Amino acid sequence: MKLLNGKELADKVKDEVKETVGQMEMNGQKVHLAVIQVGKDVASSTYVRNKQNACRYCGIMSNTYKLLNDTSEDDLIEIINMLNRNDNVNGILVQLPLPNHIDEHKVIQAIAPEKDVDGFHEINVGKLTIGEDTFVPCTTKGIIELLKENNIEIEGKHCVVVGRSNIVGKPTAIELLRHNGTVTICHSKTQGLKQICREADILVCAAGKPKFFNRDYIKEGAVVIDVGIHRQDNSKLCGDVDFDDVKDIVSAITPVPKGVGAMTVAMLMKNCVQAAQLQYSKR
Ligand code: NDP
Repeated sequence: MKLLNGKELADKVKDEVKETVGQMEMNGQKVHLAVIQVGKDVASSTYVRNKQNACRYCGIMSNTYKLLNDTSEDDLIEIINMLNRNDNVNGILVQLPLPNHIDEHKVIQAIAPEKDVDGFHEINVGKLTIGEDTFVPCTTKGIIELLKENNIEIEGKHCVVVGRSNIVGKPTAIELLRHNGTVTICHSKTQGLKQICREADILVCAAGKPKFFNRDYIKEGAVVIDVGIHRQDNSKLCGDVDFDDVKDIVSAITPVPKGVGAMTVAMLMKNCVQAAQLQYSKR
């Protein structure tokens, strides 16, 4: 069994980004990410901190706007508009989820598509779907890079993605399709889930259910990508996959932690550089 070490690859990617950012700076081009967090959700605060640390490491300037939980939708959109107009800001990221009184869709659509480093704006989603160059959502981009770096062929393989969220499931299915995989998307209403998963050469587990996928869901020799992140009662992290139960039958698997999660942040750094380069090329 091969462990697909996301942490190691993410470190390599961040080193590459750091070098590119350094070269851009020598040409007077700074890279700047604005992060907006509404409220004090503990998990969100951890994710925002991880993003700030990665920015610091790569030499990307980052400003975090920590807004009160009762910030109105209008005020949030006004801040986004201000950042859209600011030429010094290359990327804008709104940490999700937002409090219930704010319409997430409306907020994401307020971000200028060329600064949408998460790749969630409908223009960027549309471009991804028709195969145009755009920002690939970070978790999806990380999964594809992990597969490529480990020489795991996607073309012609049966790829089963469990989960159809706009953030993970759908963009991952689209990217696997773009790489010529034969893709099946499953969700909570899918019938015969176990059987479908057992047909997967590459199984992407993004159902958000701790240790849900045991060996009954996995074909011998399959590649398993575990997207889930869950804090257990013993405070350790686990994924959607019951790692110990499946490790003997898979050919390769991402661990949790140090798997997909580490890659997600590194890909955000790449998307920030992509945004900055695009914007500077137009000036
Ligand atoms: P969502 O809750 O938005 O989506 C979960 C998806 O799984 C839904 O499409 C849902 O179906 C489907 N699902 C739920 N239960 C079942 C089931 N029993 N059988 C089949 N399908 C099921 O979650 P996200 O996509 O945002 O995230 C998924 C997981 O990935 C979470 O654990 C999250 O923490 C983690 N995550 C990790 C990231 C990383 O960097 N590693 C980044 C983002 C998320 P339906 O649509 O029918 O409801």
